[in-house]
Amino acid sequence: MNDGKICISIYAVTADELLEKIDQAVPLADFIELRFDLLPPDEIDAVFNRLPLIEKTYLLTYRPKEQGGAIRITMDERIAFWFNALLKIGDHKFLVDHEFDTDFRMNLRKSISIISYHDFTGNGDGPKTAYKLLEDFSKKTQKIAVRADTITDSIEVWTLIDLAASKNKFVIPIAMGEAGKWTRILGLAHGAFMTYASLAPGGETAPGQITAADMLDIYRVKKIDKTTDVYGIIAGDTSYSMSPYIHNPAFKTAGVNAVFIPLQVSNLDEFLRRMVKPETREVDLNFKGFAVTNPHKESIIRHLDFVEESVRSIGAANTVKIIDGKLHGYNTDAGGFITPLEETYGNLSGAKVAVVGAGGAARGCIYALKDRDAEVTVFARDRVKARRLADEFAIECRNLGTDFSGFDILINATPLGTKGELEKETVAKIDQLRELKLVYDLIYNPTETRLLAESAILGIQSIGGLEMLIAQAARQFEIWTGIEAPIAVMKESVRKRLSVL
Ligand code: NAP
Repeated sequence: MNDGKICISIYAVTADELLEKIDQAVPLADFIELRFDLLPPDEIDAVFNRLPLIEKTYLLTYRPKEQGGAIRITMDERIAFWFNALLKIGDHKFLVDHEFDTDFRMNLRKSISIISYHDFTGNGDGPKTAYKLLEDFSKKTQKIAVRADTITDSIEVWTLIDLAASKNKFVIPIAMGEAGKWTRILGLAHGAFMTYASLAPGGETAPGQITAADMLDIYRVKKIDKTTDVYGIIAGDTSYSMSPYIHNPAFKTAGVNAVFIPLQVSNLDEFLRRMVKPETREVDLNFKGFAVTNPHKESIIRHLDFVEESVRSIGAANTVKIIDGKLHGYNTDAGGFITPLEETYGNLSGAKVAVVGAGGAARGCIYALKDRDAEVTVFARDRVKARRLADEFAIECRNLGTDFSGFDILINATPLGTKGELEKETVAKIDQLRELKLVYDLIYNPTETRLLAESAILGIQSIGGLEMLIAQAARQFEIWTGIEAPIAVMKESVRKRLSVL
């Protein structure tokens, strides 16, 4: 539990639209930021004339382009806006968020509640310098928002929380962009005055904003504090990850005081050194473990203090548990893959299995299938990769495009069929599937791929990637918490998330 507040930031091009969004924001927000910079002058007046009296507090902003606003606004126009706004705001509860710039006019100073500084380019003064620059202007609260291209770009802005606290002031530290999302999620737990959220997907007013519904229901940002255990997905691109939508509801259901966050990492060494390892880290976020995915599953291994046998054999770890500052590595992909397959097919000993793909997922599948004494053949477009994999696991390899006759099971471990431009693609023509007993597609988005649909036409049993996704996550959850994973909750939450993507 913490005292932080959620501010939903809204913008609109007409008064009607803005007023409708206010209605929608009221149940979720403590503050509603009204961004006036997209509204034409007559619509601004219409907003003030019709602004509803609400229990929540309005946060008024009129942001020039260089501070992330929609249009160019001169200093005189800004001043005119504020004089008009302060005259017309009447009995409404409100705060004024004024953007700082070096040409700042002192005569507006009295009205400021929050002074804010935005650096959208990453070429600005840097968070600490900006903080000092703004110090004179702020009665109590500064908002410093800087762009983060990589996760460690967000460290400096984060350290402002302690700096402000040491001066009995508040700060709203924001690292903008996917790599900085964690600052929006964990800010309140660590003493930030508030955190910003969007009203709905697509309604973001700054890069990396998360919807208020997800902030409250998935990340539970008001319920967590510094003692909350922090887990996260380490990935090159976290924007597609389902893991927060699987693990957070599971923690909630199991009554575990933990949160699971996106950790978009480009340089793994730097991330672990500056944010994780107790002897070198510059922030203490109470990390207890990670899910790890592309492109870090292999490179994480050299950072691990202990690994289970499957990590060595597969050459990849997708799970890390931190125990007394040491990193323990596991691979739950192999077990997550094989569990639904055995449940559906039964004993795999002697089954003839075609695995298509020679990447990380294929490695995990082959390891697990070999462990069950299945007869595995790898099919891949890259002959060299396929040969290497086949030699390593002592299996056969064939070129993609050759027939699957004689096989019992087909596994798709390529991205063919994934939502987007690959959605209509498939690893096998329908005629090539006829003799198969089971088709297993690792793709989970969409849940029904072309491969699965064509298998169904032929009456072939099939398994979709969602089953593996949940099974491997359930194992991660159990490794981290020692508690049986609430699988039904995990599955329902991820289905709900996939339906809105
Ligand atoms: P990866 O390491 O990038 O490997 C992808 C493999 O697919 C490579 O062998 C690649 O060949 C091949 N491939 C890519 N595009 C192809 C095409 N157009 N035609 C033929 N082959 C192609 O990826 P990964 O981690 O193994 O993941 C593979 C897929 O499995 C992904 O779509 C992922 O979402 C899914 N997956 C699902 C789960 C789950 O829980 N359900 C878990 C892990 C992975 P080249 O090497 O020649 O590029």
